[in-house]
Amino acid sequence: MNSFPQIEIELLKNLYHAFGVEVSVMRLDKIHSVVSGNKWFKLKAYLADAKALNKKAILTFGGAYSNHIIATAAACDGAGLKAIGVIRGEKPAKLSPTLQEAVGYGMQLHFVSREKYKDKPIPEAVWDNYNKETVYCIDEGGYGSPGCAGAATILGETTKDYTHIMAAVGTGTTLAGLVTSSLLHQQVIGISALKNNQELEPLVDALLPREIQGKFTILHDYHFGGYAKHTPELISFMNWWYAQTSIPSDFVYTGKLFFALNDLVSTQHFATGSKILVIHSGGLQGNRSLTNGTLIF
Ligand SMILES: *Cc1c(COP(=O)(O)O)cnc(C)c1O
Repeated sequence: MNSFPQIEIELLKNLYHAFGVEVSVMRLDKIHSVVSGNKWFKLKAYLADAKALNKKAILTFGGAYSNHIIATAAACDGAGLKAIGVIRGEKPAKLSPTLQEAVGYGMQLHFVSREKYKDKPIPEAVWDNYNKETVYCIDEGGYGSPGCAGAATILGETTKDYTHIMAAVGTGTTLAGLVTSSLLHQQVIGISALKNNQELEPLVDALLPREIQGKFTILHDYHFGGYAKHTPELISFMNWWYAQTSIPSDFVYTGKLFFALNDLVSTQHFATGSKILVIHSGGLQGNRSLTNGTLIF
């Protein structure tokens, strides 16, 4: 995670040509095999902060298929920090592949019942091994200002000419980073992976300086039932999208993002001549919960 990654931007030449717009995908999914996509940028900033504060361990929260959990485990392993994962739900008889890998990177797991998890408690058992002063906590999903600052380095010189930037939204931290670094003429559009999460806009604004608060739109109609929910329509779209573009997506975030993109372009939402940059935020962990053969990739 030390050097800034090469970022590939892939122009989809034929798919949307007939609609008079240009669509490109920023392949953040390709920058690191495990610390995938936007998590690389957010964690880079949190880990630097933790190191500067002389912390020994990172503690964070997530579910059994969390991209954030596995990315944190791998990033800490690479940075010489201990990692502690507080996981939603009772410990299962068999760990999910995501959690098994996280343990492989040395992450220590603590399971918390779904009921208690809502309040994000730090289990007392954590303090059996750590001194409170040495542990750096990152909110669930990496929400927060350092994460936003990290995500603000995603856009740069090569993205000046795009008229629209689109990204999937969980906590809104990545979107806030994109808004921070977007240019005045660029519209930033977030696709919420959650159902009716009306707190998102204020959460994004809370990470932004006043002058650019509200300089984004979040669409709430592409959740397919809610966070980590999916429908046959979404799965078949993801397979179609892969067949057209050879770009894999996940049903939690980027599948919904590309579905929204396809829907908006097909219904002529974008003016002729628009140049749309879609951020592939990586993280395909959720797909590991599907039965084999559901996806063609
Ligand atoms: C975590 C994640 C997101 C959400 O990012 P936020 O900064 O929490 O909004 C989007 N896409 C993927 C693939 C993710 O893993």
